[in-house]
Amino acid sequence: MVVILLKMLLLRLNTSLVNLLNLDQTQLAEYFVGLGEKPFRAKQLMRWMHQRGMHDFTQMTDIAKSLREKLATEAEISLPFVQSEQISNDGTRKWLIGTDTANSIETVFIPEDDRGTLCISSQVGCALACTFCSTGRQGFNRNLSAAEIIGQLAIANQSLRQEAGYDMLPVGERIISNVVMMGMGEPLTNYDNVVTAMQIMLDDSAYGLSRRRVTLSTSGIVPAMDRLKEDCPVALAVSLHAPNDELRDVLVPINKKYPIKELMMACNRYLEKAPRDFVTFEYVMLDGVNDTVEHAHQLLEVIKNVPCKLNLIPFNPFPNSGYETSKLSHIRVFRDILMQAGYVVTVRKTRGEDIDAACGQLAGKVLDKTKRALKKIPIEAVA
Ligand code: SAH
Ligand code: SF4
Repeated sequence: MVVILLKMLLLRLNTSLVNLLNLDQTQLAEYFVGLGEKPFRAKQLMRWMHQRGMHDFTQMTDIAKSLREKLATEAEISLPFVQSEQISNDGTRKWLIGTDTANSIETVFIPEDDRGTLCISSQVGCALACTFCSTGRQGFNRNLSAAEIIGQLAIANQSLRQEAGYDMLPVGERIISNVVMMGMGEPLTNYDNVVTAMQIMLDDSAYGLSRRRVTLSTSGIVPAMDRLKEDCPVALAVSLHAPNDELRDVLVPINKKYPIKELMMACNRYLEKAPRDFVTFEYVMLDGVNDTVEHAHQLLEVIKNVPCKLNLIPFNPFPNSGYETSKLSHIRVFRDILMQAGYVVTVRKTRGEDIDAACGQLAGKVLDKTKRALKKIPIEAVA
């Protein structure tokens, strides 16, 4: 309660109005109690905001007029603004979303035969500086608010729904069936806002997504993984990318703090409460760096005690990255070694190439506060 009141106070200091998109249902109920109202109002408000996309309190007809008037003076429902929307030849869409005048982030929708996946950003830039990642290279500016995170789902949902010709989708139908926290940023270093936004995704009065269809991808922030399993267990993807600490220390520098052995133990603890009985390990394929036969055998050794699937991601190049994508023949050999050991392995298809919508290419516009671009990055150590 104290945390929520503080959060509201801070939001008020910033805008003077409370943006209700920053609150999940529990927090919204507490907000109403604070206004001297009944907590069940939260459910009504969630439906208006998230299911009907209504942002004008005066139109919320099942709420007493006096409360609507009070809300209009106290609160707002404010989405980030869309700067542009691009559509790829393969149907992938990318929205450039403005979070303030200087910064923007990217959100991508990937339609497939049996699902529609939205890839959401959690921060403007990223402080973790993985050497093969374009977001990491840009440095870090700030965390996104819960409203800016859930706002990406709202914007994509609204745009796709309008295009399909629906004001509201028929019950049980969804265009966006899956959400992956795999856009810009490390979600577990923006823990509170990410968890609030995910609670809204899962809430039946809001988006009602299944826990199994919301995936959080992390570079391995071990203490936050332990918290997440208690607070909001969703499907988990872990960016492994290297089969030994020496190499991972360079590719994913947070490994120096949470090395592979600790990370593997955290994965097993997470699985005690996870909605799926496996973790997905992501492994970016970097030519000559982490893609040899020996690396594949080391990887088998590292993951042997963790129930998992493997996702091999051909490196998406960006200017001056210093890396190259593994040769297709090497990816196949690597994949076959893992498959022969009994693992389910997928090689990620690159989608939306013509609009730069691929993993790790999401760039947005980051006004770097860490001055990362000026720092020397030790790529030569692994090349
Ligand atoms: N910070 C989180 C989630 C965002 S990145 C994480 O690191 O897991 C989503 C995925 O894209 C991660 O697995 C990340 O390592 C991968 N990725 C980053 N840059 C990439 C690139 N240039 N090519 C391919 N995959 C990349
Ligand atoms: Fe950050 Fe993830 Fe990129 Fe690493 S891969 S820099 S954790 S966004």
